[in-house]
Amino acid sequence: MSGEPALPAAQCRPGCGACCIAPSISSAIPGMPDGKPAGVRCVQLDPANLCRLFGDPRRPAVCARFSYDAELCGTHRDAALQRIAALELAT
Ligand code: SF4
Repeated sequence: MSGEPALPAAQCRPGCGACCIAPSISSAIPGMPDGKPAGVRCVQLDPANLCRLFGDPRRPAVCARFSYDAELCGTHRDAALQRIAALELAT
C-alpha cells in the first residue's frame, strides 16, 4: 500500500512507475544493456518513481508508448502493477 491517493485518473499518475517495473523491456536501457525482465525495477526509475531519462534521447522508444489506460491502470498503482504483470504472463 503506497501513500498515493486512490483517485480515478484520466492520465498517468505522477510517481506511479508501474510500467517501469511490471513489464519486460527488450530495448537497451542505460545501466541495463539487455533491457529488463518483467517484475524488475528499471534502474532509471528514481526513488520518487519518476524516469531519470524523461526527455533524454537514450530513453527507449517503447517507454514513450506507455500511456494511461483506465482498464489496465485501475484506480491505484498496486492495481496497475498486478494487471500489467498478469498481462505480461498472458503474452
Ligand atoms: S527508461 Fe524510464 S520510462 Fe523507461 S522503464 Fe526505465 S524508468 Fe521507465
